[in-house]
Amino acid sequence: MPIYEPLMGNPFVDAGVSAIATWTDRSVEEVDHADLGKMIDTFAPVFAGPRWSKSFHSIFPNSTLTQSSNSRLSTDQRAAKLKEKNWFPLLKAVQELGKHGDCAGCGRRLAHLTLTKTDVPLTGSGALRNFFPLFAEGVGYCAACALAVQFVPLVCVASGGRFMLLHSNSMRVQRAWAQRCVEEIRRKVLQNDITGCYNPGYTNARNGLFAMAQELMTRYEERWEAENAVMQVYHFTNYNPNPELDIYLLPADVFRFLAYANQQQFRSAWREIVRSAYLRVNWEKVKSEEDYRNRTNLVYECLLDGRSILSFFLNRSERKVRGNWTLITLYMKEVRHMDKTRLDTIKRVGDAIAETTRRNNSARRLTQLEGARTYRDCRNVLRFIIRDRIAQKQPEPLFSLDEYTEHLFPESGAEFAEWTETRDLLVFRIYEVLHQWLQERGEAELLTTETDEETEE
Ligand SMILES: [Zn+2]
Repeated sequence: MPIYEPLMGNPFVDAGVSAIATWTDRSVEEVDHADLGKMIDTFAPVFAGPRWSKSFHSIFPNSTLTQSSNSRLSTDQRAAKLKEKNWFPLLKAVQELGKHGDCAGCGRRLAHLTLTKTDVPLTGSGALRNFFPLFAEGVGYCAACALAVQFVPLVCVASGGRFMLLHSNSMRVQRAWAQRCVEEIRRKVLQNDITGCYNPGYTNARNGLFAMAQELMTRYEERWEAENAVMQVYHFTNYNPNPELDIYLLPADVFRFLAYANQQQFRSAWREIVRSAYLRVNWEKVKSEEDYRNRTNLVYECLLDGRSILSFFLNRSERKVRGNWTLITLYMKEVRHMDKTRLDTIKRVGDAIAETTRRNNSARRLTQLEGARTYRDCRNVLRFIIRDRIAQKQPEPLFSLDEYTEHLFPESGAEFAEWTETRDLLVFRIYEVLHQWLQERGEAELLTTETDEETEE
């Protein structure tokens, strides 16, 4: 039997196992005693150095590396102490996976050890404030899981004095995250420039999560859109006086959409959409990404909170689109779960409105649609367009009754809240088709408020 299996369910153990497997370039099941021995020999001196020890106050407080009584020892002495006192005894006790057990990491071996926050971040330890179950003084783990957790720092991403730890349902995602961190640490170890956990410079953990997702998707070639993966990030510090934890969940539908959005053909449009959503950035003064990357980003916030980002696909002030119909369709299908028939109908109606607008030789209807404040306003504008089309002697109606009630505005009542979604999609399509026409007419400028009220029935 192997020592570990992929994704056993405990975020710290799974992260530690991904670190070991990635560093030793093994599958999780292949990791054996010799690999664990190599990990110990490699990382005892690395972790015992002054830079890593500093991070350990926030990951493994009160441990061999952070106790003040050991601070006068040399790096070599501390490494030797870490090995002798902590890691070798664990290695000796490592057993292969059994059928069942009460270890909180694997559930397949007996829990011989009761571990506290010194060994597993955020785990109960008496009087200190913590996140622990049943008010017990610690949690039971087996030696193999306890040893795996020791390598968690290798796959932690430093973020604003805390750390981001990934837990995914996909081993590919878990491994790619580990790969990114490990590549960086390996590079630093080789250059003898040992600085601690991978730090891509994100103090804002939400933005950091999206940046990591983007890095994985663009750096490591996989069919990510088929992966059905979630990314759960624990943004934590285990610092003694003030342990903190925030959890961010990137759901599978958002992950799948991001996988498409980061494909070559959509990448620059997606960057533009994201860029339009930063709050309080003076773009004229921006010199590099560092000037804005930690600012609140509404696209990221909405994607994590389950709110629509549709309006960010529209550049209203220049009456043009960000991205194209294919990208917005992917978003609506994957994240908003709008079905294809609805999207096809909206596209066709958008095209018809664009054509009517062109024949009217006036952008007035578009202006009215953009300015619609209520569902009733929106319905009125569509009625005017139907009337325009009759005057233009267009043979086809704008839409059938069925299309209206089933595809354009399903569930439409007086309180229908999602009419803006249909309206924004129509406006998106009209911008996409008419932008050049609007530009030629000098009407692709900042919107003026429409005061022209048409009240006829
Ligand atoms: Zn275990």
